[in-house]
Amino acid sequence: MVDTQPHSIRRIGVVGGGQLAWMLAPAAQTLGLELVVQTPRADDPAVAIAAATVLAEVGNLSATAHLAEQCDVITFENEFIDCQGLQALAQGGVRFRPSLAVLDLVLDKARQRQYFQQIGLGNPRYSILEPGGDLACLALQAEAIGFPLVIKSRRLGYDGYGTRVVASPEQLGPAWASLGHQPMLLEEFVPFKQELAVMVARSSEGEVAVYPTVETQQVNQICRRVLVPAQVSEAVQATMDDLAHTLADGLNLVGILGIECFLTQDDRVLINEIAPRTHNSGHYSLDACQTSQFEQQLRAVSDRPLGPTGLTCSQAIMVNLLGLEQSDQTHYQKIHTLKTIPNGHLYWYNKAIRPGRKLGHITLCLPSSADPAALSHTIETLWYSQCHAPYPESH
Ligand code: ADP
Repeated sequence: MVDTQPHSIRRIGVVGGGQLAWMLAPAAQTLGLELVVQTPRADDPAVAIAAATVLAEVGNLSATAHLAEQCDVITFENEFIDCQGLQALAQGGVRFRPSLAVLDLVLDKARQRQYFQQIGLGNPRYSILEPGGDLACLALQAEAIGFPLVIKSRRLGYDGYGTRVVASPEQLGPAWASLGHQPMLLEEFVPFKQELAVMVARSSEGEVAVYPTVETQQVNQICRRVLVPAQVSEAVQATMDDLAHTLADGLNLVGILGIECFLTQDDRVLINEIAPRTHNSGHYSLDACQTSQFEQQLRAVSDRPLGPTGLTCSQAIMVNLLGLEQSDQTHYQKIHTLKTIPNGHLYWYNKAIRPGRKLGHITLCLPSSADPAALSHTIETLWYSQCHAPYPESH
């Protein structure tokens, strides 16, 4: 449907200038929006696509005040902000979407767990080590949960940095030390059957749009690949949809939210965590959905109607391209080969190459007859093997 309404929101401030902000660009152009980005480095990906840039750390308050002066609304691609510090701006009338209350909740993994419990969502069993808690305290809590268990830094964890699986009581002290003796979230190790994720968007008028549920597969706790649609029962799909609605409404969300879950062997959905922004598990939507997660975020925060979220192909896979222990040149050669894959959409974020860093991704839109596991294996063999073999002509 053509949207003919006049819109008062034209300039969007984005806190964070990584690949998530960079991928907003085509949608911003389609919707006639300008992006102003706050990010620390001039070579961060989104600087290249921004109408203007505030060069400063994402937690720099005066920089966000400066950003707000130039924009109609502020959204986030990075949630590691100074929420308390930003309250003064919100009280002064700056519009943050999602609200600072949502950001504040999500910044602490322990508070997330308490909130999920409070609204009745399935949680792994957990316990919280408060500031000042010592090893004896931690050991008692761990014993109550049982081994193996997982300890997580409450703040600033991402891509598995900040998360440790602890197999036995002897490993607890060293694992906690390796995380800097910080306050912790402890939780049971869930022997999941699958990890699932879903994106949900909500407008200021309360319109909600849920994306298909995907399966995410991690290697060393970092997302390696995403398969969509997830091969789950209708009941599980319905649970994921309900969860998305419950969270979007419960949080009074304006924007987009990524929800990560565990599916247990007996088909119970336990929530892992949420992120109040576009998410790696939703990158496939750029090429495989009627409205990408990036366009949807911009629609939600700029008071435009949300777009439809259906798949435009039978199935899709997305594979993350992480930095390798190899030369820059090897990376570029491999990209060159990946670009020749039929039905492939390659995104290279133009970030400085470092081993383990998310540098790009590739999405394949596939017919129902295709074998997504075999195709992702082919891509990963090409990317992650020491020397790259030419892509087989037959695929
Ligand atoms: P981050 O926020 O750093 O991505 P997560 O809490 O999502 O950290 O953990 C990263 C990965 O570690 C998850 O995707 C999952 O594979 C594994 N993991 C985390 N918590 C648990 C748990 N309680 N049980 C089993 N595996 C877990």
